[in-house]
Amino acid sequence: MNTRTLERVTLENRLRQALERHELVVLYQPQVAMDTGQVTGAEALVYWLHPELGLLSPGNFIPMAEEIGFITDIDDWVLETACAQNKAWQDQGYRSFNVTVNMSSKQFRRPDLVDQVRRVLNATGLPPRFLELEITEGTAMKDIEYTIPSLNTLTGMEVGFAIDDFGTGYSSLSCLKKLPIRKLKIDKSFIFGVNTDPNDKAIVATIIAMAHNLKLEVIAEGVEDADQLEFLHQNHCDQMQGFLYSRPIPAEDFRRLIM
Ligand code: C2E
Ligand code: MG
Ligand code: MG
Repeated sequence: MNTRTLERVTLENRLRQALERHELVVLYQPQVAMDTGQVTGAEALVYWLHPELGLLSPGNFIPMAEEIGFITDIDDWVLETACAQNKAWQDQGYRSFNVTVNMSSKQFRRPDLVDQVRRVLNATGLPPRFLELEITEGTAMKDIEYTIPSLNTLTGMEVGFAIDDFGTGYSSLSCLKKLPIRKLKIDKSFIFGVNTDPNDKAIVATIIAMAHNLKLEVIAEGVEDADQLEFLHQNHCDQMQGFLYSRPIPAEDFRRLIM
């Protein structure tokens, strides 16, 4: 075995132990209303506090977790942690807002998904309307006849759905119109380009207009500077998320933002 394969195998084995060893942490990135500047949500992002390698961002290990079939364990844990955290903030008397949890395709396809979400909501006591689940276009559009019943049941319970990384996957508009979703999240690659690329400007403006015509909310991710924010303002985007306002931060620091 060459060194890279060996490193990979070691990392895979370590990842399986990371949960039991309490090395995974959830950081929260604020979502902000464009008109009021108020925090309207917190996206839960899982990080790995690796004893030797330091803090690893999800991009470094989520794809591996998907490959080795460990992603549903992670998604379960993040869902429970994030719901419990949001309930704790509510119990501490802060103004209520949504917590947004990313859901892998594998998790979304679990036959017991609805039961699992209901169980976590019951166990944590978080009212369902304060939970939003993010799935990608690929996850939502694949086997649409199969996904719509789960979406309908969860939406019926008042759990919200957002389409993550919108514009980068394979979206069919005839599928999109059938999905009982609440929100589109414009992928950050388009937001990065709005200052310099007329095509990105056109795409972002079009997604915002389309979302509103479909009576959906729309949020921009990856907002890093004031010019991008201004462009989103002019085009009436509802919410923003990005380093300009805050990076993903520990729950304790998030509390200071909502005080
Ligand atoms: P995502 O859900 O699209 O999350 C947004 C990513 O953009 C995050 O990267 C966030 O840190 C980054 N980001 C936010 N604002 C900015 C900005 O202004 N500039 C730049 N350059 N980046 C920004 P992160 O934390 O590395 O997460 C990567 C992906 O990992 C997430 O993309 C999500 O798909 C996945 N992920 C994270 N947590 C979970 C989880 O608990 N379960 C599953 N299934 N996937 C997760
Ligand atoms: Mg996301
Ligand atoms: Mg995204």
